[in-house]
Amino acid sequence: MIKLIDLLHEGVNENKDLQELANQAIEYFTKRNYQKVKKWRESGINENNLDFNEDIMLSGEFDSSKLSILSNFVEDIRLSVVIDNSIWSNGVYKGNGKIRVSAKKCGFISLVEYNIKFHDDDKKAFKTAFGAACRETLVHEFQHAYDDFRSSGKYASDKKSKEYYKNKVPVGTDYKMPPEVRNIYLQLPHEYWARLAPILSNIPTHKSLLDAIKSLKNNLVGWDVLDEKSQRRLIKAVSSYYYKEK
Ligand SMILES: [Zn+2]
Repeated sequence: MIKLIDLLHEGVNENKDLQELANQAIEYFTKRNYQKVKKWRESGINENNLDFNEDIMLSGEFDSSKLSILSNFVEDIRLSVVIDNSIWSNGVYKGNGKIRVSAKKCGFISLVEYNIKFHDDDKKAFKTAFGAACRETLVHEFQHAYDDFRSSGKYASDKKSKEYYKNKVPVGTDYKMPPEVRNIYLQLPHEYWARLAPILSNIPTHKSLLDAIKSLKNNLVGWDVLDEKSQRRLIKAVSSYYYKEK
């Protein structure tokens, strides 16, 4: 039987690994794309010359030696991250290890414009902008992919999720989620856990537990629409993280 302390370690280490995967993805896409900054400096940047053209990173490109518990995940499934310029959402997990992140939708254009002015170094300008734009989305989608992997595809098989996906309208480019649908979406367990993943490393563990929980409430998108039971689960997770890290 797994001891509580090991579970605690796993939750914390898992989050560190998700952050590490995001670091590696940011590094990878920077290496492949920073040369574009030169062109953007000369002629400006707009949505037509982002030119990511489905830039892809596959599991073989990750360095699993830097991971403590997600190395099997990276080695055993064909994980892929695609950067594109679509507009439907910041990112999406499509199943089977396939992640798509839209740099454009994540706000990359204004961030790179800004960073080009402050960094003479093209690589640094690209990396800073790309990290600021896409890091949270990458961590969020990696969490989905890992949950899919460790649950053998059952990560969205709870009652709420089943109901939601049964009634889901196919998402087109001009689709805007009505507020009542968005509220249901925000309450799906695998979605709120994946929204916790990117903000967990910013929880102030050097302050009081109350501050840590306040940070959760302020930073978790959709906190107010969650039912009390879900809020309690998240508070419990953040408290565990707090005691493990402080
Ligand atoms: Zn999600």
